[in-house]
Amino acid sequence: MARLQPVRGTHDILGDQARAFRYITETFVKVAERYGHQEISTPIFEFTEVFKRTLGETSDVVSKEMYTFEDRGGESLTLRPEYTAGIARAFISGGLQQDLPLRFYGYGPMFRYERPQKGRMRQFHQIDVEILGVPEPQADIELLALAADLLGELGLMDHITLEINSLGDTESRHAYRDALVDYLTAHKDRLSEDSLNRLDKNPLRILDSKDEGDRAIVADAPVLQDYFNDASTGFFQQVKDGLEALGIAYVVNPRLVRGLDYYSHTAFEFTTDQLGAQGTVLAGGRYDGLIEQMGGPATAGIGWAAGLERLAELVSHNHVPQSARPVAIIPVGGEAQAEALKLARALRHDGYVVDMGYRGNVGKRMKRANKLDSAAAILMGSDELARGKVTIKDLDEGSQQEVDLDKVSDHLMQYR
Ligand code: ATP
Ligand code: MG
Repeated sequence: MARLQPVRGTHDILGDQARAFRYITETFVKVAERYGHQEISTPIFEFTEVFKRTLGETSDVVSKEMYTFEDRGGESLTLRPEYTAGIARAFISGGLQQDLPLRFYGYGPMFRYERPQKGRMRQFHQIDVEILGVPEPQADIELLALAADLLGELGLMDHITLEINSLGDTESRHAYRDALVDYLTAHKDRLSEDSLNRLDKNPLRILDSKDEGDRAIVADAPVLQDYFNDASTGFFQQVKDGLEALGIAYVVNPRLVRGLDYYSHTAFEFTTDQLGAQGTVLAGGRYDGLIEQMGGPATAGIGWAAGLERLAELVSHNHVPQSARPVAIIPVGGEAQAEALKLARALRHDGYVVDMGYRGNVGKRMKRANKLDSAAAILMGSDELARGKVTIKDLDEGSQQEVDLDKVSDHLMQYR
């Protein structure tokens, strides 16, 4: 027999977690649409090239986390590890330039071959927003406001901090890069192997290293902002001013860089101290060079993604709306069976949640009704039915009354 286990790092989602996921996603869709975003669903898999080219060969995701496989036609495909690359690909292959500026939102499963631990899975779920074609800092401010509004609606803002940084424009990053490489080269013998590999190819990524030893070295590295030209400083200032004008609290974290290669200017993370090591719940930044680098027209972009598993862990269960309480239909004796099915369907058409215990005597069915937290039970005995009546029992108060079969829906109004 095959191993009937979920694959390591994957989970079944049901019960409270499923309810929390749905609640977060629905709240997200509502808030994103208020900001004028439209939904996009890109395929779960793409040509491997799409991710390699966008995320960069030296990113953790491409170098060790991708689920890549060959399909039956010999194509190298990869399960999407994030949303931005697919959206950028869709923009280019769909010829959407004339529709700029574009505001998208999407959600769904992502796949990364990581070491599974709390808050870190191999199949996880993200919500994601992107704005294409807006080089001005207004887009940065609006996307941050969207994030803050969402986290606020979810009741999470008390426990979450917005950390922002700027990576500057290309010119500033080049100037900084030289200074950083000089500094890191002087500490070469103590750098981790990953970081040594990145020293030539992408030294900025070393600032994002999770290795303890690297972190100690990075702590004293030159600071990016000291190498900013006026344009980079001005852009960052406008973002900060915009956040202040909207009353969105933030802290500048000059060490914050994002794990993927394609970022410029604004980078940000919403972090919490309530999730242990996996404290980043929402993260993103600006990627003005990305689409051009992929072979499309030069197009500004900015976006963020948040992990549903981490958000669901934070959302308090009494904040998640509960499903409506059911009404239980209990036929007494075989003859009532057909009438019971008819009544159940009619009540469902009227919008009630109806449970039909499929078997057992009245006592057993009552027990089930209480276990499901039903608000009321409708007892259908054949004598009563012959007179066109049923009994509605209020399961909280224990009171009951006989009502006309065709008036059941009206009588149940209070339980809807
Ligand atoms: P980390 O530094 O935690 O590895 P990252 O930089 O790889 O994060 P992003 O690619 O920016 O993360 O993804 C955005 C969000 O998606 C994260 O903040 C987190 O909430 C969630 N996320 C990322 N990877 C995972 C994972 N393997 N399992 C669960 N959630 C994840
Ligand atoms: Mg990661």
